[in-house]
Amino acid sequence: MSLERAVVAELEAIVGTEHVRTERGDLEPFARDATPVFRAVPDAVVFPRTTEEVAAVLRLGTRLGIPVVPRGAGSNLCAATVAEQGGIVLVLTRMDRILEISPDELLARVEAGVTTVALAEAAAAKGLLYPPDPGSRTVSTVGGNVATCAGGLRGLKYGVTRNYVLGTTAVLPTGEVVRTGGRLWKDVAGYDLTRLLTGSEGTLGVLTELTVALLPMPAVTNTGVAYFRTLADAGRAVSGIIGDGIVPATLEFLDHKCIGAVEEYAHLGLRLDAGALLLFGDDGPADVVDHNLARIGERCTSSGALAVTLAESVARSEALLAARRCSLPALSRLGTLTLLEDATVPRPRIAEMVDHIDEIADRYDVPIATFGHAGDGNLHPTCVVDQRDEAAIDRAHKAFGDVFAAAIEMDGTITGEHGVGAAKRAYLEARLGADQMALLRRIKAAFDPAGILNPGKLGS
Ligand SMILES: Cc1cc2nc3c(=O)[nH]c(=O)nc-3n(C[C@H](O)[C@H](O)[C@H](O)COP(=O)(O)OP(=O)(O)OC[C@H]3O[C@@H](n4cnc5c(N)ncnc54)[C@H](O)[C@@H]3O)c2cc1C
Repeated sequence: MSLERAVVAELEAIVGTEHVRTERGDLEPFARDATPVFRAVPDAVVFPRTTEEVAAVLRLGTRLGIPVVPRGAGSNLCAATVAEQGGIVLVLTRMDRILEISPDELLARVEAGVTTVALAEAAAAKGLLYPPDPGSRTVSTVGGNVATCAGGLRGLKYGVTRNYVLGTTAVLPTGEVVRTGGRLWKDVAGYDLTRLLTGSEGTLGVLTELTVALLPMPAVTNTGVAYFRTLADAGRAVSGIIGDGIVPATLEFLDHKCIGAVEEYAHLGLRLDAGALLLFGDDGPADVVDHNLARIGERCTSSGALAVTLAESVARSEALLAARRCSLPALSRLGTLTLLEDATVPRPRIAEMVDHIDEIADRYDVPIATFGHAGDGNLHPTCVVDQRDEAAIDRAHKAFGDVFAAAIEMDGTITGEHGVGAAKRAYLEARLGADQMALLRRIKAAFDPAGILNPGKLGS
């Protein structure tokens, strides 16, 4: 479907001619996001500047039945912004103002297109912490983070994006502007629409402004690393650490294959003879951080760690965190197509799940390396293949189907933080069941009677 000239003219009247693109070459970069394989060229890309412009575009979409796909930086990993049914991709990146940072109220108000790092840096400049820290934070938008309920390396202690969203300005597909929540930590008036919109993957409303909670900046941050013979030993250490009553900010793991790929990529001096690596970190007052890291180190040793070291400098601490952050680019170098997943299981079952993943990889004859958030059971099994090898890609997709089935079987889920999008749509009912799927569809219909907002995703 291509848009009629009169429709394009209406869009141009709403946002200005220079903010509407319809030429094939201009549309191409918006045909895909950070998810491999999925691709669909939209009919138009529109860059609004205000909530009113967003409302006008959505009213037009509903009136004419034209799909509208909200998009931030397009960094999602579940094909959530691929315009499978054509229509308009609505890019929020021009709405990039930080409206307020309030140290008194410990909150910030931002437009949806502000990058995560810009918000974090503006908060830090006032001695405040915005905890959600997805690996993509230099490019991802706060609107995209809220719409996907993004997690990050600090999730164990600080939770995920939803824990920080106090209020939203959202435009419904019908063009109504709703303001949910606000500046309050305590507010139970009505259904919690702020939470409903958080993680709704652009299917219920377009977020144009967010009010998010901030925390005082911790005085000190430090990191350590422990090497284990097996991932089972590392898993035992994780259970022990939490059982000791310590909830560190960071508790991440890399399996043997990831350690090798990261070391080859970043030359951090990681031990290559280890079966698993556990990265742990904490923040807070210096004495508390020292105490917690020492106890974590002891617990790792008593769980069979081959070696435990604490970072001796801020630079080394950052280098260790980089080891985790660069897992994905490091693995991606091993082939031309990287399929990254985020199945999640209850924390004590991580090692068991990684064993399942390894067995599934062998069965389908595909290479799968696994890293992830040990503290919250969120695993990122990653398969790197040759993009021309269709048979291998097909086997990898089948393998991930089995991985999701195994996660659900273990009381886990098909996605811990990346979202469902088009990529995991086929597995959603297995996770939620038919009754919840029907409820999702009724909620979707209440927000979006014409079914134009990111159609085909989530409850559509
Ligand atoms: C290298 C790399 C590392 C990553 N690390 C992490 C990680 O640690 N943790 C994690 O959770 N994710 C991670 N991601 C995934 C991704 O960055 C997050 O999902 C992020 O929140 C997406 O933000 P975005 O601005 O790119 O949104 P997009 O990709 O543009 O959109 C994502 C979804 O949000 C919707 N959306 C976007 N903006 C709005 C809006 N204003 N209103 C309504 N809906 C909207 C879209 O329709 C889509 O459904 C990573 C991705 C990469 C490439």
